[in-house]
Amino acid sequence: MKPVFHGSFTAQEPIPADAIARAVEVMQSGRLHRYNTVPGETAETALLELEFRDYIGARYCLAVASGGYAMVTALRAVGLRHDEPVLTNAFTLSPVPGAIAGAGGWPVFVETTEDLVIDLEDLARKAADTKARILLLSHMRGHIVDMDALIAVCRAHGVSVIEDCAHTMGAAWNGTKSGRHGLAACYSTQTYKHMNSGEGGFLVSDDAELMARATILSGSYMLYGRHPAGPPAETYRDIRLDTPNCSGRMDNLRAAILRPQLAVLDRNCARWNERYEAVADELRNVPGIRLPHRPAKEQFVASSIQFLVPDFDARAVQDFLARCLDRNVEIKWFGAPEPFAFTSRYESWRYAGEQRLPKTDRVLDQLCDMRLPLTFSLEDCRLIGSIIRESALETRAAIASGTLRGPPVKEVS
Ligand SMILES: *Cc1c(COP(=O)(O)O)cnc(C)c1O
Repeated sequence: MKPVFHGSFTAQEPIPADAIARAVEVMQSGRLHRYNTVPGETAETALLELEFRDYIGARYCLAVASGGYAMVTALRAVGLRHDEPVLTNAFTLSPVPGAIAGAGGWPVFVETTEDLVIDLEDLARKAADTKARILLLSHMRGHIVDMDALIAVCRAHGVSVIEDCAHTMGAAWNGTKSGRHGLAACYSTQTYKHMNSGEGGFLVSDDAELMARATILSGSYMLYGRHPAGPPAETYRDIRLDTPNCSGRMDNLRAAILRPQLAVLDRNCARWNERYEAVADELRNVPGIRLPHRPAKEQFVASSIQFLVPDFDARAVQDFLARCLDRNVEIKWFGAPEPFAFTSRYESWRYAGEQRLPKTDRVLDQLCDMRLPLTFSLEDCRLIGSIIRESALETRAAIASGTLRGPPVKEVS
């Protein structure tokens, strides 16, 4: 009998006990709204903003209702105009083009390299062609492009960068934290990201006016003075009257859950990377499996793992996925013809209009993806890695002998 994996790919760790205790205190106080404070009190949400600002090293920080909301708000706060083109990765998650559309813009997708980062040649070409002023750069699945090269391309074309750091909270490029390379950066604290408050997000920037607009947009009313991690009061003089309230605040309950998690974020990032190495070790030098190259300057946080299967056509990929699933290893494949669960291809965002990205298509057709929850032990990870390796080798043998199987019998979530 071949060994089978028995864990769950969606089980998260519990919320830490000190976070639960603090959340209970907040609930007992009844003051869940961030502006419902007693004299002299600093709200839990404002304290979290100060701590996250210091962790990232940004000048200002605003906590909001979700990562997607942080992106829409950043785009509005930089003055995106109706129907204006916004460059973004073709390989990303649907809330990214959704944020662009939600802010009234038009997503222009940029090609993806085999190392799963934005293609800088295509970026330069599309920046020139569209005259876009903004790039919403998604560090999808934690893969960080050469940020020095990217910023050089963007400078040359007058493009401002907003970073989507949903998968790079705690990561860095060449010693500089992810989210410190552009004009502003957005983070998510949704359950499947690096901190878990169910839903939630942050926007950070050094730009005082941008952050004043973002704070008013988030629904601060005239209480923006209660944002100690926000810009100085005089920044709001006109902005407070010229900016609409598009309610999307974070509340004190979520902030209470997040503060103790921020204290252990770096430790958890190291735990993700140990898990990544345990799986990746099994996949290195396996014929037909290609792990993306990760340069030394990329200080990544691998809360998931991706690999390409360049020798497999769609039928062979399905045979491979079925063999993994037989042993309870759920691999997501980006080449599936119909979008399902969280992942989707850019073609399924039809509101963006028809766009052709042949290079991204080739990459997605070969791309396999798997989460690495911290509930997996290192032993689990080694077992998963060996199941993937053995399944890939079996599929190769099946191709050679003409005995490929059909698609997997149950669909992966
Ligand atoms: C999850 C995610 C977001 C949005 O975060 P939410 O908090 O769920 O709105 C943005 N970008 C990427 C790449 C994501 O995976």
